[in-house]
Amino acid sequence: MLEGKVAVITGASRGIGRVIAMEFAKEGADVVVNYRTRSVEAEEVVERIRKMGRRAVAVRADVSDPSQVEEMASAAFEEFGRVDVLVNNAGIISRAPLEEVSPEEWDRVISVNLNGVFYAMRSFGIRMIRQGGGSIINVASVAGHTPLEGGGAYSASKAGVIILTRQVAVEWGPKGIRVNAICPGPVLTDMLRSEYTEEELRKRERLTPAGRLGRPEDVARLAVFLASDDSSYITGAVYDVDGGLSASTYRLLHELLR
Ligand code: NAP
Repeated sequence: MLEGKVAVITGASRGIGRVIAMEFAKEGADVVVNYRTRSVEAEEVVERIRKMGRRAVAVRADVSDPSQVEEMASAAFEEFGRVDVLVNNAGIISRAPLEEVSPEEWDRVISVNLNGVFYAMRSFGIRMIRQGGGSIINVASVAGHTPLEGGGAYSASKAGVIILTRQVAVEWGPKGIRVNAICPGPVLTDMLRSEYTEEELRKRERLTPAGRLGRPEDVARLAVFLASDDSSYITGAVYDVDGGLSASTYRLLHELLR
């Protein structure tokens, strides 16, 4: 589905981003694997993609630093001549009641999860507009619709990503750029495992209508579709990939009241 396309995936050394990078390569794309600290893991992703016969490079850049993001965009265009798809996947979680969130912690979360998305859309978008088009996919979260218990900074950052997605889709639609957001529910990665014990994860599984937690592949397959020309009439859309979690308010209330 992605033959001949060049894609940049932020935060692709681990978790959801890593699987998006591999699925994109499987579908024929050349890939820029962005990471912040884990160079060994990022190089391993690059190696696996090259073994599939696709081109790949690892690029270190902290998405919360606009100059590093600009350097990454310039390096990607230099290496491949064009970038057709940008996936803003890099993100961090932070859990504390809002009254305990310091201004520094608030800034840290917003600067990676929200500012990082803006910086990358700007640096890559300007170049995509010049080349005549592109597809941008932002990984937000269902926590951007529904307040995450003890995760106010995270929820606010993801809500920002959702409205920014729609804003840019409207502004850049006439310039040939599509922008969509994916809102995962719980997906089994380091991030989720850092938040819950094994027992809590089993309980969450039982409370999810789909009867299981999400896999990175669940997100990656939607990203493939949104990156492909099959979704050429889709922009400004926001998709939940959550096994039915967001629709479960009354089901969960019922469970609690039983
Ligand atoms: P993860 O396993 O913790 O992986 C995070 C990735 O982001 C890593 O590759 C990390 O790079 C990279 N990263 C972090 N900060 C960065 C920065 N400042 N600059 C560049 N890269 C950075 O997380 P995940 O679960 O795969 O989450 C991926 C995305 O999905 C995030 O936006 C997250 O908010 C969203 N999401 C996840 C879930 C879930 O349940 N897992 C649910 C909803 C939404 P290094 O390894 O090099 O540090």
